[in-house]
Amino acid sequence: MFGLRAIQDSSEHTGSYYAASRRPATEYPTLTEAIECDVVVVGGGFSGVNAAVELAERGHEVVLIEANRIGWGASGRNGGQIIGGIGHTPERFKRSIGEQGINTIYQMGIEARDIIKERVENYSIDCDLKWGYCDVALKPRHMKNFAEWRDWEKTIGNPHPYTLLDASELKEFVNSDRYLGGLHNTANGHIHPLNLCIGEAAAAVSRGARIFEQTRALEIVPGDKPIVRTEQGRVTAKHVVLAGNAYMGKLIPKLSARVLPSASSVIATEPLSETLADKLLPGDVAVCDPRTALDYFRLSSDRRMLFGGLSNYTGMEPKNLVSVMRKKMRNVFPDLEDIKVDFAWSGWIGIGINRMPQLGKLAPNIRYIQAYSGHGVAPTHIMAKITAESIASETNRFDMVASIPHLPFPGGRAFGRPLLAAGMAYYKLLDLF
Ligand SMILES: Cc1cc2nc3c(=O)[nH]c(=O)nc-3n(C[C@H](O)[C@H](O)[C@H](O)COP(=O)(O)OP(=O)(O)OC[C@H]3O[C@@H](n4cnc5c(N)ncnc54)[C@H](O)[C@@H]3O)c2cc1C
Repeated sequence: MFGLRAIQDSSEHTGSYYAASRRPATEYPTLTEAIECDVVVVGGGFSGVNAAVELAERGHEVVLIEANRIGWGASGRNGGQIIGGIGHTPERFKRSIGEQGINTIYQMGIEARDIIKERVENYSIDCDLKWGYCDVALKPRHMKNFAEWRDWEKTIGNPHPYTLLDASELKEFVNSDRYLGGLHNTANGHIHPLNLCIGEAAAAVSRGARIFEQTRALEIVPGDKPIVRTEQGRVTAKHVVLAGNAYMGKLIPKLSARVLPSASSVIATEPLSETLADKLLPGDVAVCDPRTALDYFRLSSDRRMLFGGLSNYTGMEPKNLVSVMRKKMRNVFPDLEDIKVDFAWSGWIGIGINRMPQLGKLAPNIRYIQAYSGHGVAPTHIMAKITAESIASETNRFDMVASIPHLPFPGGRAFGRPLLAAGMAYYKLLDLF
């Protein structure tokens, strides 16, 4: 398509700032034999890796297979923004999950960030975790929404305060003339996502899980003991967890029909001077605006501006990615006009039609988790936890979320893309008012 190209990638995912600052690079072996275990997890992003941690912590014998490297998909490329909440407006699903289900989803939205906090502490994961977040307003109605949102967080018992900021107060956190004000909280924050994912994989291994990289699942054979076939081996298990999300291709057509890979992109500047970094983001918070095609940004631990945006339903990135993203960054921070951009990369967000994470069972012993619709850093952690709870017969939270209907895109991906693009254009239009 004109002006677009396939995402520039390699199986080692070398193009991003995260890959360049990954510590340490993972080197798990490729599976070359037939093995058995209690649970085999397919996919080494946050969903799969945390399912492995949760299951291994419960004493299950776990094998995780990843087609590329740990964190190679969205989990190792994202904006690193830890955002509370699960999906969008669960009230829409009252008929399926009732008042109690809605409340459970709100509580899981708070629990999700606590899992990250505990995991980083319990396993001493070096991933630059910082708490502090600002949602920023471009329109007066955004401020009104923020005020309602602040009150709502109190209603659901979120222990972390949310503070409404006018334009001048916001400058203590986000020093840009672009915004009318904002909503600050310490419930949310930011991390180096690839290092978190790699640290969590190491945590799973420390609890006895076995990980195989460059090991793609080619076929899932259902049965009392399902088999996951790979190029050079196979895993026979009591349970399978599928966590390949937007990157799983056509492995399970029923799942790919329900998740549309949409491209989002990030640039990383050269390291800013301490003075400039302090001037632009004095609170070292992560930031995003409320538009459909939103800007999201934050500083890395070595003071690079990581500036993200775009949501391209073709799954492709602009040919002139750096200049497109640089322009967006300049609109927020004119001071960065002449700053060098060292890295630019894109990844696939798994969009679902109703914008709620999709959980379900293809068979009583084959579960899947996918489609966080661009908001998955924290939600993956709680969805992985409730998947493990389900396998261990501890709670019914998995079945509750699974009862939210998630339909395929009408006409499959081929028609789903233009359909979503049209929907997106409509919402972008609304963002103008
Ligand atoms: C550019 C970008 C920015 C984002 N920013 C944010 C943000 O700031 N905050 C936020 O909350 N969310 C953000 N997201 C979304 C978030 O990153 C995702 O929701 C989350 O990482 C999904 O994790 P996952 O484990 O489900 O999927 P992924 O991380 O995509 O992992 C899936 C893995 O499965 C593997 N796989 C697929 N098929 C197979 C197979 N057949 N066999 C073996 N392995 C397989 C893939 O190689 C991949 O590594 C962003 C996403 C992108 C792309």
